This record gives sequence, structure tokens and C-alpha cells, in this order.
Amino acid sequence: MQELKKLSERFYYLTPVEETDRPILGAVVGDNLTLLIDAGNSEAHVRLFLDELTRSGVPAPSLAVLTHWHWDHVFGASALNRTPVISTEATKTELQRLSSYSWEDEALDERVETGEEIRFCAEAIKKEFPAERSIRIHMPEITFNDELVLDLGGITCRLVHAGGNHASDHLIVHLAEEDILFAGDITAPNLYASSWHYTPDETKQLVKKLKPFASAWNVISHWKPLSKELFIEELELLEKTASLSARAGDEAELKNLLMDEYGKPLSEEESLAAQYFMNGKKL
Ligand SMILES: [Zn+2]
Repeated sequence: MQELKKLSERFYYLTPVEETDRPILGAVVGDNLTLLIDAGNSEAHVRLFLDELTRSGVPAPSLAVLTHWHWDHVFGASALNRTPVISTEATKTELQRLSSYSWEDEALDERVETGEEIRFCAEAIKKEFPAERSIRIHMPEITFNDELVLDLGGITCRLVHAGGNHASDHLIVHLAEEDILFAGDITAPNLYASSWHYTPDETKQLVKKLKPFASAWNVISHWKPLSKELFIEELELLEKTASLSARAGDEAELKNLLMDEYGKPLSEEESLAAQYFMNGKKL
């Protein structure tokens, strides 16, 4: 059951759905403008969010921003009539590539076979669109390269192209006045590859970029808003695993180094991080 939640005076979000891979959608409410963060995995997804916002008295969105090109964050953009969409230049390039694709079962299965598409994404697309699949990739009207600041009236949104392994086009949205960071999928591994992976250099650079933005709440798209303490812990877990992976010959050795470091058995998350860093080394 998806729920609209109010995290602060000016920030609302719709909770995610695991089965169909629906990520969190955000809305920032300024005195003059409303900004939507991410467009959802379908027109139905973003419409549900817009309906919930209307019910809560939030003015209709004036602008939308896409965090990165992955289907679950962009397919709903075609429903945003008369709402200019913002993205990084790199996201637009990826969307131009997607716009030539067919999303029918056969085409999806073929792309899974060639490694262009991820099996669980193809399955989630089939579940989100069981009948008609009239997917239209909407091209962003406004693009930027490094940074863009939006003044919505009483609140500013700083959009920063931060990249990382998950998607090199990924941006973050920082709401300084609300002390909220919309981090999206930025801390996730690269999933569009033969094996899910992180690479140490990119991870260290990303952690360095993200740390100054760590806020009271940090929204992780397929999970929840994390407290500052938990978010920093996540970043430090990645940093630590990245550093130790350089000294390890294989996954078992890396896990041993991490257990020595922590002085306890690894959590599932710590174990997975070790696996993804070693996958990155093998590529
Ligand atoms: Zn993603």
C-alpha cells in the first residue's frame, strides 16, 4: 500500500513498492513553485502521487526533475503535461537511447539475453504494464551539466550532478532549508553490467562528494529516508569496503579483512558490499 508522507514542512513523498520496482517520489513545495522529484515507473504511478498531493492541498507541480535515466524513475514523465522536466545533459543522452526501444515482451526478453536489460527490471515492467504498454519516453526540456539552483519561494533546491557506479548521470537534490537530501539510487551498485558491482575509485569519489550533503533526512529511492547517522554509516561502509578491497585477492579474503576491522560477523549488507566490490575487480 503506497502512502503519501509529509517528512517536513515543505517535503512530501510517496512510499515505494518492491514488486513493481516503484521508487519513492518526492515533492518540494515552495511559496511560488512546486518541484516533483522523479516521474515514476509509469503514468499510473505519477498520477497516483499527483492525486494524493492534490488531496493534501499541495499546488500542482510547476517543474519536475529526474534523478537518473533508469526506467522506474522516468516512464511516468509522459504524463506530466505542461510541466517542464529537468535532468542532467547525461540523462537526456541516455533517454534518447531508450526512446528507440520497444517495450513489448519479445523485445524485453531479447535485451535481457544480450545483457542490455536486467532480468528483474524486465519482469517488473511486465508486472507494472500487464496489458497495454504504450510507453513514451519524454525528453527533458531543461538540462544542465554540473549544478542548477532552483528558488521555489522560501526554499531553494540545489541539483548536483554527482554520478557514481549506479548511473554516471545521477544527480542529487539538496534542500538546505529543510535539511533534506534526495539521494535517489546513488549509493546502489552498477546493475547494468554482467555482474552487479562497485569500483573503489568511483566509490571513494562519490562518498567524498556526498558527505557534505548528508542531512537530517536522506531519501533512498527504493528504501526510505535515512537519518544522518545511518546515511553516514552507509557511506562509511562503502568507503571502508572500497579501501580494503584493494588488499584482498578474493571475496573470502575481503570478508575476513572486514570482520577483523569490525570485530564481528558481517551483516547481510556488509557481505553484499564485499561481493559487489570483488565483482568490480574481476571486470
Ligand atoms: Zn536506478
